[in-house]
Amino acid sequence: MTVPGIRPQPELAERMSWVKESPSSRVADRVRAFRAAGKPVLPLTIGEPDFDTPEHVKDAAIAAIRAGETKYTSANGTPALQSAIRARLERKTGRPYGPGEIAVGGGAKQLIFLAFLATLDAGDEVIVPAPHWVSYPDMVALNGGRPVLVPAAADTGYKLTPELLRAAVTDRTKWLVLNTPNNPTGAVYSKAELAALAEVLRGHPRISVLCDEIYDEINFGAEPVPSLVSVAPELRERVFLVNGVSKAYAMTGWRLGYAAGPAALCAAISTLQSQSSSCPSSVSQAAAAAALDGDQTFIRETVAVYAERREVLVSGLAAIDGLRPVRPDGGFYVWTDAARLIGARTSGGTRITTDADLAEHFLETSGVVVIAGDSYGCPGHFRASFALDSETIRKAIAGLAASISKLRFR
Ligand code: PMP
Repeated sequence: MTVPGIRPQPELAERMSWVKESPSSRVADRVRAFRAAGKPVLPLTIGEPDFDTPEHVKDAAIAAIRAGETKYTSANGTPALQSAIRARLERKTGRPYGPGEIAVGGGAKQLIFLAFLATLDAGDEVIVPAPHWVSYPDMVALNGGRPVLVPAAADTGYKLTPELLRAAVTDRTKWLVLNTPNNPTGAVYSKAELAALAEVLRGHPRISVLCDEIYDEINFGAEPVPSLVSVAPELRERVFLVNGVSKAYAMTGWRLGYAAGPAALCAAISTLQSQSSSCPSSVSQAAAAAALDGDQTFIRETVAVYAERREVLVSGLAAIDGLRPVRPDGGFYVWTDAARLIGARTSGGTRITTDADLAEHFLETSGVVVIAGDSYGCPGHFRASFALDSETIRKAIAGLAASISKLRFR
């Protein structure tokens, strides 16, 4: 019970006012409330693979438990996981990473957070191209930095261009965040696009680059997703490459991510972990080593399924008047321009003034849940996921068409 005039104890730190709850958690609460009220919901909000973790990965975890691998490990992971990560990174980037250049954490998310915690002083700026994954700006702010959002244009595939990068750099810029494939747009930076950004970065030796490649295995292109470190090896000493097993191997709940980069940063992250979480789960580490080292058929099979669903969702959305979906090159989201629907009125006479209003209209009238573009720093859009079966995707498309047909434009 709160007593009037008495502040709740303990009083929260000022930094809690710099951060908001993740929009995906907020939407998940709405979906639960709808379901509890017995209303049908079609959630195009899913941010994780709907597949089960591969059997050989589960077996490796069970074997680890039976073998007694249930104790603290080094903050930067077991030797087996370290070597699986280094082999995987060498396959991907064409260059070896030394043991001191690897960090392991409870998800890519924790590693990104710790990288900012380890490096940002008050007022340091972090360039975050928008549309961006929801968590980057809050993580930067929470660690005392200043997120500098740089809106990227639709006609460049919502990607950061050298001109935009050049214009955003100041004396305080410490990091550039580069997310490829991008959440929410599915954009993959080509080698040429990375080379052009590298050219700008060459002129600014104090800027480091946080490359978030967590979706790199969910790739619809003929070539592997290019990495900045392969395209511009001379930048390697200031690139922090973040990845994990969550998306590629359907292991979101195992909470295991890894990163590669400057030894001093990896050591700082290790120190922060030693004083906070000690180390990632030993069992999850055994599972992740098996995932990275083992048979990769799972990735091929699931990407083929995602590719089919991508077509169902993109073509379904494209057939609806007022929506302009972007065909993603990677990941499992379709980013959709819905700006033409803003300003319309519902049949009840309410005006849709924001993309959040539009998302609410979809939910109220057809139970379809999408995440409004505003959460990604790009209003007038929404993100729809295809990490769910094609039948549900088709039902959701029919629902969206029905919701939109109820809108009036005069
Ligand atoms: N980066 C991006 C762009 C993501 O979408 C996510 C997961 N939603 C993460 C990082 C975090 O992944 P992990 O489960 O490894 O923490």
